[in-house]
Amino acid sequence: MKNSLSDRLQMFVRRTTGRAALTEKDIDEMMREVRLSLLEADVNFKIVKQFTNNVKEQALGEKILKGLNPGQQVVKVVHDELKRIMGEESVGLVYATSGLTKIMTIGLQGSGKTTAIGKLGLWIRKKDKKNVMFIAADVYRPAAIDQLKTIGKSLGIHVYDEGIKDARVIVKNGLAYAKENNYDVVIIDTAGRLTIDEDMMQELKDVKELAQPNDVLLTVDAMMGQEAANVAKSFHDQIGATGVILTKMDGDTRGGAALSIREISQIPIKFTSNGEKMDTLEAFHPDRMASRILGMGDMLTLIEEVTSNIDEEEAKNMMEKMMSDSYNYLDLQKQFKMIKRMGSISKILGFIPGLGKMKDALSNVDEKQFDIISVIINSMTEEERKYPELIDKSSRRRERIAKGAGVQVADVNRLRESLVQQKQMMKKFANMDENQLERMSKNPSA
Ligand code: GDP
Repeated sequence: MKNSLSDRLQMFVRRTTGRAALTEKDIDEMMREVRLSLLEADVNFKIVKQFTNNVKEQALGEKILKGLNPGQQVVKVVHDELKRIMGEESVGLVYATSGLTKIMTIGLQGSGKTTAIGKLGLWIRKKDKKNVMFIAADVYRPAAIDQLKTIGKSLGIHVYDEGIKDARVIVKNGLAYAKENNYDVVIIDTAGRLTIDEDMMQELKDVKELAQPNDVLLTVDAMMGQEAANVAKSFHDQIGATGVILTKMDGDTRGGAALSIREISQIPIKFTSNGEKMDTLEAFHPDRMASRILGMGDMLTLIEEVTSNIDEEEAKNMMEKMMSDSYNYLDLQKQFKMIKRMGSISKILGFIPGLGKMKDALSNVDEKQFDIISVIINSMTEEERKYPELIDKSSRRRERIAKGAGVQVADVNRLRESLVQQKQMMKKFANMDENQLERMSKNPSA
């Protein structure tokens, strides 16, 4: 899928890294980018408008503005909103509680219906271990029945057909046959036309009435873009579908159909079909599709780290503490634990507003030092950790700590110095503006 949305968002995040908060103007700018790339992806304009409004509203909310790396958090809002418009949760097949499960398929000619029936049959047999039969009732397209029989043969799935032109009769008899022969699931192929017309709709209504299907699956060609959503809506309004199989996703580079269908037609996408081979049917997961559209494996991982590994509040409190005079060894210890969870000091710095640019400069910090420091802190008393001046004032305490930790007194002194230095450094950062930070990140020793 084309990553223009992802590219644009990443650019925005890069540009706003280091800001403590985003202004409404920043967000408007970002939403303009989002709007453009969604329109380019052929998403329905009403959805685009609603989408950007929703994201903006959430992005302007208190929580985001106070957040860690606000640009990244807005990307998360975009991701969640993409997921929401595609239906939040994945929706599976509906099986009969007992007896034969009947799945009716509907769709325009060329939408990939026959191919999808084959794939679905294979999928149901493989994943859900059920005995499947097809009913060939697409009596209009000349080669449709032969095509289904060929597919059935290649998969070892029985295809019921009667060589007659009345779909209603075929379906009725086919269902009776399936019951007699103890099949678990039948998939009924129905008439497709090039365009939606009255006769076809009537026939589909009749077949549905007769078969009383558990699931009515509509195949829609993803390459149609947002037009796919309109087709789905027409079918749904007249027949009532319970799920969409979005076909030819392998050829869709834009994602417009996936993003428009649920909102426009209200039908959940249940499967995507991704090629001409029979094993290319996939259950549809809105969250995975959202990530795919954003092309954001990396970005998502980053966001997940922000939201799961370090608690937003925790990090903020830590920053405030570091800049205050009461910063002590307990805080330092907590900070190390946080860094450990994050994997590296340079990573955590990247998330802290104002420090993003220092990341590279600090990526050489020797992380083995952390272990020594931990041992030293562990050999302090609780009081000493809380009040660093106790150690500053007493050489006896320093000797005791060094002995307990199995290090030299000089190591303990180095730790004392680094606590003081950290405090000073944080104060300096706190008073810097963006330009100064940028200069500093280019020349850290300055
Ligand atoms: P029907 O008229 O709706 O039954 O459509 P078919 O199943 O005959 O498919 C129409 C054309 O689309 C055929 O050439 C299929 O091989 C092709 N097709 C179907 N599904 C897919 C898919 O997921 N990916 C690709 N690339 N082609 C597909």
